[in-house]
Amino acid sequence: MNRVARRGACPGLLDPMQTGDGLLARLPQTGALAPAAFAAICRAAARHGNGLVEVTARGSLQVRGLTPLSVRAFAEACAGAGIVGTGGPVVIASPLGGRDASAVVDSADLVVAIRDAVTRYAGKVAPKVSIIVDDGGALHLDALCADIRLRALPDGRYALGMAGDSVSACALGAVRAGDALAATVALLDAIATLGRDARARDLADARGVVAALAEAAPPVQARPPARFVGRHFLAHGRAAVGIGLAFGQSEAKVLETLAAAAMDMGATGIAPAPERTLLALELPDGDAFARLAARLGFITRADDPRRAIIACAGAPACAAALIPTRAMAAEVARVAAPLLAGGGSVHVSGCAKGCASRAPAALTLVGTAAGAAIIRDGRVGDAPAMIVPVRELVGRVAALSVPEPA
Ligand code: SF4
Repeated sequence: MNRVARRGACPGLLDPMQTGDGLLARLPQTGALAPAAFAAICRAAARHGNGLVEVTARGSLQVRGLTPLSVRAFAEACAGAGIVGTGGPVVIASPLGGRDASAVVDSADLVVAIRDAVTRYAGKVAPKVSIIVDDGGALHLDALCADIRLRALPDGRYALGMAGDSVSACALGAVRAGDALAATVALLDAIATLGRDARARDLADARGVVAALAEAAPPVQARPPARFVGRHFLAHGRAAVGIGLAFGQSEAKVLETLAAAAMDMGATGIAPAPERTLLALELPDGDAFARLAARLGFITRADDPRRAIIACAGAPACAAALIPTRAMAAEVARVAAPLLAGGGSVHVSGCAKGCASRAPAALTLVGTAAGAAIIRDGRVGDAPAMIVPVRELVGRVAALSVPEPA
């Protein structure tokens, strides 16, 4: 995808990118939005984009199908809703934003300070440089990769890591809460000196960069996977309810209806979150909201089979796609139910690039010039078990999903 507009040309948005069905605009991560602001963005997406709103695996909102003309109107609508991006690295934080009773610390002020500080790195570091601030709560961010990671520790310090997810990141020790911002800035300064394409992994001596701030710390402990879909208890008897978007997208008008209902039900915010989810915050009656979301077609149960299907944008959204991934994903979710119920997953990729996942899946279905490749227990790039005409793919998946007799 090509960047087609300079940063700053569209207030409130990251650089729009050219895709198969027009421009894609990703909104900056700013934490929870007021339900009215969220509804306004959905209205603007329906009016100026292709009528769909997406939430990415990293918890960003994005809209496709914009034109060079409509992207500016969409950006202005976003700015009117309070979404004003100022550029610089992406800062990802807990979607509960200081409301989580299970958090080790309230990191909200630190997140604001880092979001302020990173604006000065716009154009100085690669657009993909990202920072994670993890408050240590149940909705942790261990599975997301980032250039710089801060994770709150029970002793009040932050474990500092670099270039990876919680397991693969290089540990740099721990910093006191009052030094977390300075350590982050020191690392960003060091990355910036390496050039505009540099990432944290390119730092030859990251420990040296933060030596004056970081102290020795034991390795961070692995945690059970965070479950964003479902009900989360907050203070004062209120709840946050996480819902999933099937294959990461929803009709903008349906989302607008949901946002209006959330407001009527007393929600104070809607937060985009990892795993292609949204959290409605501080609901007095979380169950009522979950029932409504289920009626509107959203995923409200962690065991919904649609959550086990990963699909990239595919055709027609991506110019490189050779199959309509998301249209097929709904069919695949239906016919692959036995496989998915057994814990398997399916990755539907529009082409051999495999943007949506690098992980192995029970079935990986890839669009190729010769047809649809089916890879069993592997990932995009592995040798296919077979290549079938695209029109036969769903039938083949159905046959392969039936458990073999013992
Ligand atoms: S995997 Fe291919 S078809 Fe899918 S989004 Fe990436 S480039 Fe497009």
